[in-house]
Amino acid sequence: MFNALVMEKDEESGLASPSVQQLSEGDLPQGEVTVAVQYSTVNYKDGLCLSPKGGGLVRSYPHVPGIDYAGTVESSSDERYKPGDKVVLTGWRVGEAHWGGYSQKANARADWLVPLPDGLEPRQAMAVGTAGFTAMLAVMALEDHGLKPGHGPVLVTGAAGGVGSVATAILANLGYEVAAVTGRPETSDYLKSLGATTIVPREELNETTKRPLESEAWSGCVDAVGGAMLARVLGQMKYGASVSAVGLAGGAGLPATVIPFLLRGVNLLGIDSVMQPYENRLRAWQRIATDLPMDKLEAMIHPAKLSDLPQLGADILQGQVKGRVVVDVNA
Ligand code: NDP
Repeated sequence: MFNALVMEKDEESGLASPSVQQLSEGDLPQGEVTVAVQYSTVNYKDGLCLSPKGGGLVRSYPHVPGIDYAGTVESSSDERYKPGDKVVLTGWRVGEAHWGGYSQKANARADWLVPLPDGLEPRQAMAVGTAGFTAMLAVMALEDHGLKPGHGPVLVTGAAGGVGSVATAILANLGYEVAAVTGRPETSDYLKSLGATTIVPREELNETTKRPLESEAWSGCVDAVGGAMLARVLGQMKYGASVSAVGLAGGAGLPATVIPFLLRGVNLLGIDSVMQPYENRLRAWQRIATDLPMDKLEAMIHPAKLSDLPQLGADILQGQVKGRVVVDVNA
């Protein structure tokens, strides 16, 4: 028997609610690799999957959420993995359409797993999680489009959140000047400790302007917010600079004009972590092991256990989680 956080739907109200339950191996879905999960985390999407309507992401109930997990292989019918291997899983709609990591045990397809790079432990991998993995993909995309240190500040929006915190720490460690946008002024010291050089109050950027172009300010941007803020930022990018569009914490709309693309050669780069091909996943996790300072990662961590998840899910949807939650599923 093992513990898992299970979402069950009340047929009358149509709403799902969570409880920690004891399951047996027979309850698990089929998979090639059985993982003894050690840690999971809370991303924005987890907040949606923990909500009473499943955020439109959960397909069927009962459901075990948790879009990320890390642990060790218990058994494997796939020759790429053997018992004791340390592995991480993010994406592939695990925790949404498939059972996820809020469980002491999980079954996975071998293709979904990534071996943890040397120097990265399961707890650290979950401090990174989908949010941090996506932040790394966003930085890699900016670099692939010519971003180099020394050409002016890189903007990070939603900076005190998961994606933003990790992006800030990685960029600062790589030698970039980082301007961090936050709606929570009380997180300024935290953001500076991660390496941000400038704090930009959210209200400076969260309204659209009639001017399609403003002064050229940013050499790159990791955007976790979308909406009006992304539209505004596009008009402030330096000539030829790129924005990695990661999130929609501020809205899914994009009330922008094409002028920044046409007159300044600005690039808008889409970042998807869910269906990311294996080779790029490997590359991103290896870059995380080398480019994300572990002391900074440690400063982002809020420890939690399975029974804390319902509250944390609600908190992250309200933009109230700072940094990264690490869930010890065995606590
Ligand atoms: P968090 O909630 O941890 O961070 C989001 C941050 O955005 C908040 O902390 C807050 O930062 C800011 N924010 C929240 N609401 C607003 C608002 N209305 N206007 C402006 N800023 C706001 O979430 P994550 O970091 O986990 O995820 C961030 C976004 O990225 C989400 O939309 C998520 O769905 C998306 N995402 C996309 C992925 C992909 O594959 N493309 C993968 C992972 C995440 P502050 O308090 O500093 O202002």
